[in-house]
Formats: sequence, structure tokens, C-alpha cells
Amino acid sequence: MPVKITESYANYSPPLDFFTITKRLLATVPEKYLVGLDSVVLCNLSGQLRKLRTGTLPRRGRRIKRSDVAGLYCRERRGQKAWIQVFVDQIELPPRFLRWIRPIRELVFGVMLYHELGHHAHTIRPEFREKEDVADNWGHRSFDDHSRKSYWLLYYVLRVVRLLRRAILRLISGNSASAAPTAFR
Ligand SMILES: [Zn+2]
Repeated sequence: MPVKITESYANYSPPLDFFTITKRLLATVPEKYLVGLDSVVLCNLSGQLRKLRTGTLPRRGRRIKRSDVAGLYCRERRGQKAWIQVFVDQIELPPRFLRWIRPIRELVFGVMLYHELGHHAHTIRPEFREKEDVADNWGHRSFDDHSRKSYWLLYYVLRVVRLLRRAILRLISGNSASAAPTAFR
């Protein structure tokens, strides 16, 4: 069963075609990680009831404000399948002149969506670590995977650039890898 994508905006017109972005991002995720996931619901936080806009949610043993949240993973509960809620108006978009570039649109959205999907993957393949770390890791890996499948040329060009930069840094620092600034690793 494919994951449903539902759009439910209240007094809001989305600046991007979030439906298509979501569809493309889901398309590169191996099916086994989507089993049991009912839907991704795209909505706007500004259109939610006050009690869903204010208050806090637990995260990493602390509380974070609901108004700072862009995505929520709602696990399976009382016979209702798991689903993901995305508040598209909470996602920081790139400047307007960059929005036509698909990899950039998918990058800003993918970081959040793949993190939430990571929470779902965690229920399928349990790991005994902090759940936010598991979701972050899974998210990074999926994004890498998506880039390689969807933008393979760009992906490999960037890899070559990275390797070259590393090689040059190593040359500059006299063949000693440990002398290279860690920020470039
Ligand atoms: Zn999370």
C-alpha cells in the first residue's frame, strides 16, 4: 500500500508544490521502511487549533515549544496506523530566486521529512539509542540515498570536489591528515 499524501491547509496557500516534493522524496525510500505508515499530512501550523499551536512537546528529555516544530511522527495507536504531520509553514524556505532549483527545494524539505521517516524506520528496525539520534542518522542516510538516485551526476561531481579538496588540504598540510582542519572532514 503506497503512503497517502494529503494536503489540508486552512487560510493558507503554499508557496511551493509540497505534494510533488513529498512524492519524489518518498519514491526513493525502500518500501520495507514504509510498511505500516498510513500517510503524510501536509498542513499549516497557523491553521491549527490554538491548543495545537501552543504549549510544548517532549524532545530529548526536555520540552520544546510546539511553535518550533515543523514535523511530527505519530506512531501507531489504538488501531490507527502511524502517520506523519508536516507543518509546511514552519519550514525555512530558501530565498525566492533559488526555489526553482529542485535539489534545493528537496533539500530543505527532505531534511525534515526524512527525520520523521527515521522515527518510523526505528519502529521497524529497533535500535537501542536515543530516538532522535536514530532518526537523524536515518534521515542523513536517506537523503544521501535520494541525492544519489535522483541527482547522480550532481552527487558524484560533489563527491569528486570533496575528495579533491581533501587531497589538496592534505598536500598543503604536508601529508599529515591530522593537521587538516576538522571542519573539512
Ligand atoms: Zn524527531
